[in-house]
Amino acid sequence: MTTIEHWIGGALTAGGSERTGDVFNPATGEVARQVRLAGAADVDAAVRTAAKAFESWGDSSLSQRTKVMFRFRELLVEHEDEMARLISAEHGKVVEDARGEIIRGREVVEYACGIADVLKGSYSDQVSRGIDVFNFRQPLGVCAGITPFNFPIMVPMWMHPVAIATGNTFVLKPSERDPSVSNLVAELYAEAGLPDGVFNVVHGDKTAVDALLDHDEVAAVSFVGSTPIAKYIHQRATENGKRVQALGGAKNHAVVLPDADLEFAANHLTAAAYGSAGQRCMAISVGVAVGEAGDALVEVLKRKAEEVKVGPGDDPASEMGPVVTPAARDRVIRAVESGQAQGADLVVDGRGLSLPGHEDGFFVGPSLLDKVTADMDAYREEIFGPVLSVARAADVTEAIELINANPYGNGTAIFTSSGAAARRFQREVKVGMIGVNVPIPVPMSYYSFGGWKDSLIGDSPIHGPEGVRFYTRAKTVTSRWPEVRQTVDAAFHFPTSN
Ligand code: NAD
Repeated sequence: MTTIEHWIGGALTAGGSERTGDVFNPATGEVARQVRLAGAADVDAAVRTAAKAFESWGDSSLSQRTKVMFRFRELLVEHEDEMARLISAEHGKVVEDARGEIIRGREVVEYACGIADVLKGSYSDQVSRGIDVFNFRQPLGVCAGITPFNFPIMVPMWMHPVAIATGNTFVLKPSERDPSVSNLVAELYAEAGLPDGVFNVVHGDKTAVDALLDHDEVAAVSFVGSTPIAKYIHQRATENGKRVQALGGAKNHAVVLPDADLEFAANHLTAAAYGSAGQRCMAISVGVAVGEAGDALVEVLKRKAEEVKVGPGDDPASEMGPVVTPAARDRVIRAVESGQAQGADLVVDGRGLSLPGHEDGFFVGPSLLDKVTADMDAYREEIFGPVLSVARAADVTEAIELINANPYGNGTAIFTSSGAAARRFQREVKVGMIGVNVPIPVPMSYYSFGGWKDSLIGDSPIHGPEGVRFYTRAKTVTSRWPEVRQTVDAAFHFPTSN
């Protein structure tokens, strides 16, 4: 059986750790590969390699970095099909969905291709007689990325193209559930002309993460994953004096008003709830049906949930694949059970789905719970599976109150034909990313991605302008070039303008 090894200094290496982990094919339930799980010494080797590479990459020209990014972007296009199949085989999502995340990740590379423009500093001429002030931003050094299983290529690409284009070097610790595509990304960077050691991949679990958080030569840590781990990462890395961005979990609500086109809204809610088997941080997991929209909406949602085609990710007919592990499947089943036990109506039951030829795969069908209330576990927990809960609200005010009382604040959406209602919603809701008749409002790469409350620990969103700020620090220079020597006397009082 193949073992997926680390990529350090431009080459594959097994490192010194004997430990490995199972990588499943979720559609068959088989262990398809092993992944090497790094020890602290392997992490140290990767960080030192990245630190050495920073000595020259941190000094490289903007045009050199841009050239690499343009070439890398072309290679991502050429290898899209291969990458989509690799992601589908380890994550379980359908190939077309994997293609979608590759394209959204590639958009960050396109943003990084324009880094020269984004990195321009500012200049103030003649702030005092004969004195100018200007500022510019410089890279930090070695940056680390720790990423979740659900977007094995897109989420790391929210980080490394921006970090590398701004002159840093990078150590990625991808999810141990679907690690293969990160090694392919490393190969494509090398083919694009990125010098060895600028981008490194260390596979592993908590041991590798802790070694990164504690390493003296890691300047910044980017994390995306569940909220408890985001809080842990933020605290430990901050204590160690590092810059940290830590994005956490989510519970995204979509509000449907009675004046919305219900067929349109239900179509989008269904795709946003069950696409990728609900394993998206921007998945809609709660539909909030307002007023008389309720029964009619649930009726359409039921029909659409029953129509979802569940099957292996590599079958073009499949709309939804399996979940990632047996533990994830069991968590979904428990959530449906508890919703029903605590008083919700189970309108569509996805438990007990068995696909001929894939009996051991981690499949669970779409479930729809109605009349879910805020005190139920199915509402309070991030299920991260194909379960859509419908909560009822009397009016927009009640819908906004429900969302604002929820500890998460990643994404939300409103479906309505009223501009006034949409405007009020976007102003009053305490959530970072909002869709108006758009169910999954993931910002484009030239904006930044980030939620509020427990969906973002600390205060640094990811990619776009905020990403550039995160991966660089500013210098401000005050300069004077006297034409005649000593035309200005040096003063002992604190400098003021004249
Ligand atoms: P996870 O938190 O279990 O794992 C994320 C990363 O942390 C992995 O690399 C993992 O190896 C590492 N990790 C896990 N346990 C650790 C520990 N105890 N100590 C140190 N490191 C540890 O998340 P996941 O299951 O891979 O991904 C799903 C979660 O990610 C969901 O909660 C989802 O909402 C969230 N997510 C959030 C966003 C966002 O943008 N806010 C995007 C994608 C995923």
